[in-house]
Amino acid sequence: MARDYYEVLGVTRSASKEEIKKAFRGLARTYHPDVNKEPGAEERFKEINEAYEVLSDDDKRARYDRFGHAGVSGPGGAGPYGAAGFGGFEDIFEDFFSSFVGRQSGVRRGPRKGGDIRVSVTIDFIEAAFGVEKTLDFQRLEVCEVCDGSGTEKGYSPITCPDCNGTGEVRQVRQTFVGNVVRVAPCPRCGGKGTIITHPCRACNGSGRKRKAVKLPVNIPAGVHDGLSIQIRGEGDVGETGGPSGDLIVVVNVREHEHFNRKDFDVIYDLNLNVAQAALGAKVTVPTIDGDVELTIPAGTQTGKVFRLRGKGVPRLRSDGSNSGRGDQLVYVQVVVPTKLTDRQRQLFEELAQSFGTDSPTSQQGRGFFERMRDLINGESS
Ligand SMILES: [Zn+2]
Ligand SMILES: [Zn+2]
Repeated sequence: MARDYYEVLGVTRSASKEEIKKAFRGLARTYHPDVNKEPGAEERFKEINEAYEVLSDDDKRARYDRFGHAGVSGPGGAGPYGAAGFGGFEDIFEDFFSSFVGRQSGVRRGPRKGGDIRVSVTIDFIEAAFGVEKTLDFQRLEVCEVCDGSGTEKGYSPITCPDCNGTGEVRQVRQTFVGNVVRVAPCPRCGGKGTIITHPCRACNGSGRKRKAVKLPVNIPAGVHDGLSIQIRGEGDVGETGGPSGDLIVVVNVREHEHFNRKDFDVIYDLNLNVAQAALGAKVTVPTIDGDVELTIPAGTQTGKVFRLRGKGVPRLRSDGSNSGRGDQLVYVQVVVPTKLTDRQRQLFEELAQSFGTDSPTSQQGRGFFERMRDLINGESS
């Protein structure tokens, strides 16, 4: 007659999954046939295993609670330990012995991708806007031309590693409390390659790769911004034993411009107006990244006014490196009150003062700061 599963594991009927697992582990370590040679240990171990198979499974545990052993025997039930085989036992142990159990395969070191290389390049504001070709100077590992990448001195060829017979793997047997476990590791003699170079190439010390200075012309697309990284596939270090090359990562630094700033793809330009230009209106020359343009300033223009020159910004750079349309140039107006006046100017301002009288002017013809901010946000240019 089978014993009660809860009793077998020494837990209460309300035990949590964690408690059941913990109890099982403790008992399994004590009664595992490889470590416990006492008579009856194996029977006890099978019993523990069977109890755990049922109580660790929510469905089976529910059926067992309602119907007892009848609910979990037969197809879909726990069955005797022997039927589950040793494989079933391994599955249960896998979660906490996975680092020992020889499940890893493919540790052999085959072709490996070359390393990525980071190179920074500094370009001008205008170059960033319209794109530029730059020649980058850097060093990378390339195929050794003396041995053509084989790593072997001319007239010799690599031999099969005698320690692993060319497999690149060795099996290490470890003794643990659940018996011997096998671990597969890269062969230390050949480093997992399966072959040994007896006469290494003197130019590359047998690595098959050599560091070389390269000059590489690189197209920097229009619209890049300061700090952007451009990935150029396959221009990094060459791979090991025929693996693919790494990538070149170009970090772009953009020099400041004396007139322009950037906000995304818009160019920001600060325009100073004197009080007469602001009050009377004027035609002024404004630089853009395409060259100078004439801008008509209407009479009564205030500090903080923003004019938008559509399409005069930086080409919009898409993630695939192509461009779509351009941003705008935003001209921010600053009305500059003179701090030094000629005698003539002072005389004119005094006349102006008399004509204005003593009242303070109303705030900017009724259009306050917040209204102008709203216009700016809505992108209105007048
Ligand atoms: Zn070489
Ligand atoms: Zn080997």
